[in-house]
Amino acid sequence: MSVHIARQVDDVLENLSSVKNATILAGGTDLLVEINFGRQRPTHIVAIDRVEELKDLSRNGHVRMGAGVTYTRMLETDIGSPALQEAARTIGSPQIRNAATIGGNLGTCSPAGDALPVLAALDATVVLKSSKGERRLAFGDFMTGPKKSVRRPDELIVAAEWDDAGAAQTYMFAATRNAMAISISGLALVADRERRRVGVGLGSCGPTIIRASEAERFAEGLFEEAGWELPHRPSEAAAKEFGRLAAGAAKPIDDVRGTAAYRRHVLAVMGERSLTRVAAIA
Ligand SMILES: Cc1cc2nc3c(=O)[nH]c(=O)nc-3n(C[C@H](O)[C@H](O)[C@H](O)COP(=O)(O)OP(=O)(O)OC[C@H]3O[C@@H](n4cnc5c(N)ncnc54)[C@H](O)[C@@H]3O)c2cc1C
Repeated sequence: MSVHIARQVDDVLENLSSVKNATILAGGTDLLVEINFGRQRPTHIVAIDRVEELKDLSRNGHVRMGAGVTYTRMLETDIGSPALQEAARTIGSPQIRNAATIGGNLGTCSPAGDALPVLAALDATVVLKSSKGERRLAFGDFMTGPKKSVRRPDELIVAAEWDDAGAAQTYMFAATRNAMAISISGLALVADRERRRVGVGLGSCGPTIIRASEAERFAEGLFEEAGWELPHRPSEAAAKEFGRLAAGAAKPIDDVRGTAAYRRHVLAVMGERSLTRVAAIA
């Protein structure tokens, strides 16, 4: 096995295009597990953790988060997404958060990836680069199945971008414990007052991250009635209905972490609570 330590994006792209089946290594918190369990046997690794360009983070009405931004950095910086910070806080342990990156969460593309429901709810764009050029894809077009995306082997995920959606957003998840546990289900809710748009992303309850579009339209209607003035107190019945619609969008399965019925139940509860919480944020 050979390892190339890259320092620039162009250097990574050159390696990805010239070496067949080159494997990208960012924080290594997913990849090393795969290697240790014998599920992957890379022959050529391109380490990208020293590529400074990938650590860029800018916020100016629009957020651009380089693929190399770690969860620890997300927690220490004003990243323009409180929901993504909530997701970052739930991920792994401090050691994992110090190494693990947003690009790695996108690279693995697990339906249980905690950053991904937030990116879906934010309507984020995934930016990919290869020696042939750049592609910009809506998150919903990027992820195609469990641990599957449209990324080609010669492409590097360089960033995730989204419009700054304001403070009214949250991420909730249910797991067997509060830390170091894979989520049973997760829900991200973003209410963007400026664009009068609601985004709801569901994790760990289908083959991909799911957008709960009926729940989104329902919440938009509620906020519209209130003239998008927050804080706003939705009725108990409205919050319940939002939870019901969010859970209805899920396509869960029974597995070792939980049954499909339990997943639907927690999504309905999280939906109800998240609407009440987000509506209370001024
Ligand atoms: C103990 C432990 C706890 C964890 N807890 C959580 C958790 O609570 N929530 C959660 O979501 N995840 C969790 N994870 C999984 C992991 O930490 C995250 O998925 C993390 O975001 C992976 O980032 P990384 O930089 O370490 O990726 P790596 O392991 O370096 O890479 C992961 C995959 O993505 C590819 N890749 C990496 N960067 C890029 C890029 N820029 N472009 C293209 N492909 C790329 C790699 O080739 C590899 O296939 C945990 C892992 C461990 C070991």
